[in-house]
Amino acid sequence: MSHNFDYDYFVIGAGSGGVRSARIAAGHGAKVGIAEGRFLGGTCVNIGCVPKKLMAYAADYHAHFEDSLGYGWTYDNASFDWSTLIKNKDTEIQRLNDIYKNMLEKAGVTIHGDYASFIDNHTLQVGDDTITADKILIATGGSPRRLDFEGADLMIVSDDAFYLNELPDHIVIYGGGYIAVEFAHIFHGMGSKVTLVYRGDLFMRGFDDDIRAHLRDEMIKQGIDLRFNVTITKVTDHDVTLSDGSSITCDKAMAAIGRNAQTDNLNLPTVGIADGTIKVNDTYQTSQDNIYALGDVIGRVELTPVAIKEGHWLADTLFGGIGRPAPSYDDIPTAVFSRPNIGTVGLTEAQARDKGYDITIYKSDFKPMVHTLSKRDERTLMKMIVDKKTDRVLGIHMVGLDSAEILQGFGVAIKAGATKAHFDETIGIHPTSAEEFVTMR
Ligand code: NDP
Repeated sequence: MSHNFDYDYFVIGAGSGGVRSARIAAGHGAKVGIAEGRFLGGTCVNIGCVPKKLMAYAADYHAHFEDSLGYGWTYDNASFDWSTLIKNKDTEIQRLNDIYKNMLEKAGVTIHGDYASFIDNHTLQVGDDTITADKILIATGGSPRRLDFEGADLMIVSDDAFYLNELPDHIVIYGGGYIAVEFAHIFHGMGSKVTLVYRGDLFMRGFDDDIRAHLRDEMIKQGIDLRFNVTITKVTDHDVTLSDGSSITCDKAMAAIGRNAQTDNLNLPTVGIADGTIKVNDTYQTSQDNIYALGDVIGRVELTPVAIKEGHWLADTLFGGIGRPAPSYDDIPTAVFSRPNIGTVGLTEAQARDKGYDITIYKSDFKPMVHTLSKRDERTLMKMIVDKKTDRVLGIHMVGLDSAEILQGFGVAIKAGATKAHFDETIGIHPTSAEEFVTMR
């Protein structure tokens, strides 16, 4: 390693991918620095996965209270206080920020609490400091995309939703992806009226069609107002106008229409890299030999565990002499924290057919046991896609209580190439919803 530079490895952005890569590289003996101008832990810890999940738990209590009646519980005056939730959530996030700080320092990584920008391939301006590094990693993530029609600037984005002063009475959420359906659940559970507006026929494009339709039906049953095949054309501080000419009175509108790579102010053109989603090769190298990028900023798969895998692999490869194959993007399990949750791994039915597989589909649509006494009208759908020729399970999809938890283990089975026969030989855990996956006939 070179001794002419301040650092062997300098990481820009202390989010999921950057922190992991910095720590692992330092563990391999590299001299590592990291720049972060906002908060340690990045989007996931501060304005993404973690606070979102905490808020989804808060929203679920609404149903838990209602469901408890059928089990003999009574409760008086249950009410929800938004400011308590936000305060407690902020305390927890601060705790996690401190853990990240300690983790980095213990690993021997030097933290620079500032934004970085390129001066040349090996030199960065980080706050008031000029820093040189042999290898540089860009792990700056993404930020919510914004719209530009009349009043679009009045719309909040997910970043803002975590810090609202009060719970909206009626929120219109624009978009039909992960963030839109997750926040529809969060706000609905906490007591807001929710309208979700999506430009296509059916939201959650890319997920299995049966799963999408099932989630739609469940959300409608809960009283969430779904408006498909329309766009928003105008927003004021008290209403939203749709492309069909109708308008919705509301006190908040939120855009959840995807995220853009965050490369502003990095001064990338100086080093011959274009702004926006950064192009990298199979080893996360940009067009410049010593500059790497991974995580959301490369726009491959915008998921925290994927960024972590990428960051770890890169550090092992660059500094650990470990010659493992680069991370695989096949069969990535993922979950959506809607109500009910979606959990999924592998090919959808449409993808399997597109790839030319001759498939058998197994489905199970049932009322989970917890809702026998609760009398809640909420159903679970499970679906398995099997290759007739090899008996391999190509995809597993679920929308229902605990899908996110259930799918992780099945993700291992799919990764290991499990066949339907393996599933059939597996004894179920009774009584659970998960056992349906090993009893499908
Ligand atoms: P998504 O890509 O999931 O969804 C974007 C949605 O916005 C789609 O429904 C898309 O419609 C719609 N859309 C895009 N552009 C426009 C436009 N100009 N006008 C109107 N609608 C538009 O993005 P999200 O913002 O929901 O989330 C970003 C990413 O973050 C996710 O893809 C996911 O990778 C990650 N994430 C993961 C979570 C998890 O793991 N649980 C939770 C939250 C986020 P169409 O389908 O027609 O293109």
